[in-house]
Amino acid sequence: MLPTYRELIQSSQIERFDAQVLLLHVLQKNRAWLIAHDDEAATSLEAAQFSALARRRYDGEPVAYLLGRREFYGRDFIVNSSVLIPRPDTELLVELALERAPENGKVIDLGTGSGCIPITIKLERPDLIVSALDLSGDALAVAQANAQALHADVRLLQSDWFAAVQGEVFDLIVSNPPYIHSDDEHLNQGDLRFEPTGALTDGHDGLHHLRSIINAAPAHLQRGACLLLEHGWDQGAACRELLQAAGFSDVQTWQDLGRNDRVSGGCWRE
Ligand code: GLN
Repeated sequence: MLPTYRELIQSSQIERFDAQVLLLHVLQKNRAWLIAHDDEAATSLEAAQFSALARRRYDGEPVAYLLGRREFYGRDFIVNSSVLIPRPDTELLVELALERAPENGKVIDLGTGSGCIPITIKLERPDLIVSALDLSGDALAVAQANAQALHADVRLLQSDWFAAVQGEVFDLIVSNPPYIHSDDEHLNQGDLRFEPTGALTDGHDGLHHLRSIINAAPAHLQRGACLLLEHGWDQGAACRELLQAAGFSDVQTWQDLGRNDRVSGGCWRE
């Protein structure tokens, strides 16, 4: 006898919520449908597809990679193991960017990954001219697919930080660069084990890319334009120091919903 949907979830050995989400993905149904039909027998194909996903989840693969998507700022983004899984913390960076971007301004996102930041900015503020770059061609392919699926007009460039935009100036620069210290034990835990290492850590002290961006940004900022950087909970003071040393004004740090320092920034008034 084939198991019912409820039995499939109960016997899965993974968290109930994850099991539900994976089963809904296999069935291509919503939660309300499952509640009304959970005593029906699964087909053998559904049971096999669900078991394969549940096994991969049991072995640690992130739910977002198994589904191939993750919600960010109310929209669905395509993800795969070439890009960092968008985090709710990063919505703070987007909100600050939306507040600071001047009307019809030029905005750029450095290290865009899935493209969740520039695509959201463009869709929330169609007046802005938005560019984004990434070193990884595989990541850019994901960002391109997202821009297309969400109908966002974002210029995407393959570039080692500012290399491909030499001589260009912007009204706002944002970035969520790799900022985890290479010794951080979290890199060997949970979802992070499956995410691209180069998107998570700089291979050094965690400040390596933040420092490069802060030092290179002034040459690409219009007078009065701001730089906003996401960083780790313990990197706020270090980022403010770097920003001040580079000559930025109005340097400050903002906290995420968990009350951790998460974004620091400053404006270029020279
Ligand atoms: N900009 C992308 C994000 O915030 C990717 C960031 C990264 O790979 N470090 O999700």
